[in-house]
Amino acid sequence: MTADRTRSATERSPAAGRTGEDVRSEVLRLAEAYRADIARFLRDIVAIPSPSGREGPVVDRILEEMGRVGFDEVYRDEVGNAVGRIGTGPTTILYDGHIDTVGLGDPTAWTHDPYAGKVENGRIFGLGTVDEKAAVAAMIHGVRIIKEMGLDRARAGRDYTLYVVGTVQEEDCDGLAAGLFVEHLRAKTGRRPDLAVLGEPTDLAVYRGHRGRCEFKVVVKGRACHGSAPDRGDNAVYKMGRVLEGIQRLAPHLKDDPFLGRGTITVTRIESKSGSLNVVPDECVIFIDRRLTWGETPQSALEELRAIVTELGEPDAPGKGLGVGATGAEVALLDYDAVSYTDCPTRMAKEYPTWVTPEESPAVAAGLRAAEELFGVRPPVGKWAFSTDGVSLAGGHGIPTIGYAPGNEVLAHTVGEWVAEDDLVKAAAFYAWFPAVAVEELKRGKR
Ligand SMILES: [Zn+2]
Repeated sequence: MTADRTRSATERSPAAGRTGEDVRSEVLRLAEAYRADIARFLRDIVAIPSPSGREGPVVDRILEEMGRVGFDEVYRDEVGNAVGRIGTGPTTILYDGHIDTVGLGDPTAWTHDPYAGKVENGRIFGLGTVDEKAAVAAMIHGVRIIKEMGLDRARAGRDYTLYVVGTVQEEDCDGLAAGLFVEHLRAKTGRRPDLAVLGEPTDLAVYRGHRGRCEFKVVVKGRACHGSAPDRGDNAVYKMGRVLEGIQRLAPHLKDDPFLGRGTITVTRIESKSGSLNVVPDECVIFIDRRLTWGETPQSALEELRAIVTELGEPDAPGKGLGVGATGAEVALLDYDAVSYTDCPTRMAKEYPTWVTPEESPAVAAGLRAAEELFGVRPPVGKWAFSTDGVSLAGGHGIPTIGYAPGNEVLAHTVGEWVAEDDLVKAAAFYAWFPAVAVEELKRGKR
């Protein structure tokens, strides 16, 4: 044992009698051999619509594939996530890929049928290809390679337990189902993942964080009166105009961070209430998307909004503009409240913490090493512009988390989503090779 310790997996074989070089060539050869199967499975799950909250049929298909490629355990957890496990080793690794998609939008805007999985010039088109069924297909077939080569039972002390989880409702409430899986796992096995890999698109780079976010609503009250004599009333829409100006003034002064970039704030919806089109509105509501950079929290963002509203003055204070004060307006964090397709109630405040995994952490080192050892090139390190299940895995539970997946994130939530078949193959090889490297890097990190 001790003689081995200073050598790396690159020189040593996880399976007795083979060199590391041989093993990696075999991983790449098998990934290539399974190219058509991975593509076919991806096209199968793209063809099954899976909007958030209605993932049942696609989970059935994913569980079937997990069983077929040789997972040791395959089941659906309480909230409806597709769960597959291999191995029983002491290190627990989680591959997280959400399997719900956003809505179709305008079906005529799609360049290709969103559910047909059309293949053209080595690209597979369709809703959810990039975000992120491609990663799920590659993860599952990565496990097929692991099982085929016995990489999970290679050497005493180097084995691991790997969970591949197809999570639900991510597009509606990022991190909710992933967090419920972590709690489910603790209750069922007492385990907590030592490391998580997200399947959100990274274009085969290693990503290590993103800004957090939260959603607010601001309600401003006014006083209704006949539209023919507006001075008798107090127009809630005009009062909200002052709040909107305040938000626009705040935006350029939000905190900045060299890695994550600046926090942002934007109004995404506005509504008003009036008895008819001849009545001055007595209520106006706006909804706000707030992205939180390092050092910002949902609470600090809430305080900023409250300050804007308070600055506009109490309703009855003379000489204070339109009087949108604390008593005339309400600022609140929104709640998510829905029922999963398995009838599990899911409720939480819409606050999603910022997270960053340090560049020098074992998780990032493992991602970089696994890719470099397979493909001969060190991949870039980056971050997502949007939010992911990492908000609960890393942000909430403190699990060291990275992302590595096929597909370009700029194509997510567009009508032109596609993923390259070549990248599916590479990702499958990565997912097969990564756990052994991660076990080593985690051990190295503890020494
Ligand atoms: Zn996604």
